[in-house]
Amino acid sequence: MPLVKTPPREELRALPATDVAVVGGGVVGIACALELARRGASVTVLERDRIGSGCSFGNAGWLTPSLSLPLAAPGMLRKATRWLLDPESPLYIQPRFDAGLARWILGFLAATRRSRFERGAAAMLELCRVSVDLWEELARRAPEPFGFERHGLVSVYEHREVFEKARAMAELVARHGIPFEAWSADQVREREPAVVGAQVGAYYFPDDAHCEPYPAVVALAAEARRAGVRIVEGAEVYAAERTNGTVGRLSTTLGALTAGQVVLAAGAWCEDLGRSLGLRVPILGAKGYSLVLPRLERHPRHSIYLAERKIAINPHADALRVSGTLELVRDDLSINRRRVGAIVRGASGMLALPRPLGVRELWRGLRPCAPDGMPLIGRARGVGNLWLATGHQMTGLKTATGTGRLIAELVTGQPPSFDPEPFRADRY
Ligand SMILES: Cc1cc2nc3c(=O)[nH]c(=O)nc-3n(C[C@H](O)[C@H](O)[C@H](O)COP(=O)(O)OP(=O)(O)OC[C@H]3O[C@@H](n4cnc5c(N)ncnc54)[C@H](O)[C@@H]3O)c2cc1C
Repeated sequence: MPLVKTPPREELRALPATDVAVVGGGVVGIACALELARRGASVTVLERDRIGSGCSFGNAGWLTPSLSLPLAAPGMLRKATRWLLDPESPLYIQPRFDAGLARWILGFLAATRRSRFERGAAAMLELCRVSVDLWEELARRAPEPFGFERHGLVSVYEHREVFEKARAMAELVARHGIPFEAWSADQVREREPAVVGAQVGAYYFPDDAHCEPYPAVVALAAEARRAGVRIVEGAEVYAAERTNGTVGRLSTTLGALTAGQVVLAAGAWCEDLGRSLGLRVPILGAKGYSLVLPRLERHPRHSIYLAERKIAINPHADALRVSGTLELVRDDLSINRRRVGAIVRGASGMLALPRPLGVRELWRGLRPCAPDGMPLIGRARGVGNLWLATGHQMTGLKTATGTGRLIAELVTGQPPSFDPEPFRADRY
């Protein structure tokens, strides 16, 4: 998608200058704005649409450190080759010629090396653990409810061999302070009766949580406004001046804005914005879907991961959210009925879904993905006052609050709470 779509014909009014402009009002941008304002900065969020209208709107709503490992994991090469040929597989890349995509895939495969994966895993688990605690704190304090519950996640397996192999991942996360229990098939039936399909057992992660994704953005934005953040909706950033190694004025469809520092948090749309500033931000969109169904008669007690089908189930109080699939598409938001059908069939095989389904909402979103599956959080290469907060792939909700804290610490020169090295934004 070109950055400059319809530039206004005349110069628009100037928006009041700000210490920090955050481009993008998704969960990550809002979290950054909140933490910056808490540290005394004047902050303006520029969102081209409505806050939370991007990938943060209808995601699975999981706040699960147990599933926060980098996307590029050892063994993915073998799986990805098989999946590439199957348009109904959980991970799909439509075969096409695209030099940027080819470079992205090569970067992804290089990042599946075990040593690299384990370094990234430790950083992600720490970021996610702290973030979920921050979400819990917000749920306790904020007047806006967002369905935060910490009842744990049940990761269900259907084949003994796969179940046994997956224990290594459960043990890896346990070494980083995320406990788990192994449940037999009988224990799954007894403790999570919503699972009715054939299964051989599950890993249960009691510290995992879930929430309703869009209300979570609304609660975070309300907290940001209370801290003094100005949120401007309908303001698309379409150009930025770069002079002497800094970003100057931002041109938006609602006016021009001068900011001392700029945080680019535009999710899957960061590549074009970065290019306009002479930066390489290799973020691709990975499309996924979620369906909201009525509450089940046998409603789940926990979040459920159908691990071999890669389907996420989130039991909201009055509805069931079913999410899945990952298709590298760049910025294509078309609905692929075959892939939506694969999610429905996958979930129906394991849960007693109503017939007819009574779908209340079908949503799709673009996960912002960097080739190594790690977020980019930090100063951009060669631009002193530009910061990136993007590339959170499947973990943007669950790591947003910690990302906000890390960005705010880096921008304001405070000692960072996490090691920023694995997230360096200038690694590309
Ligand atoms: C099916 C599915 C399930 C998922 N489940 C989970 C889950 O359970 N837990 C989890 O942690 N993550 C999950 N994710 C991932 C998560 O949704 C994303 O990582 C997260 O929403 C990314 O947030 P963001 O703020 O970076 O991007 P976005 O929410 O996409 O926000 C970017 C914003 O930037 C705005 N923007 C773009 N260009 C401009 C511009 N030029 N000017 C101004 N504004 C601009 C957009 O309008 C958008 O609002 C899931 C994703 C999908 C698709």
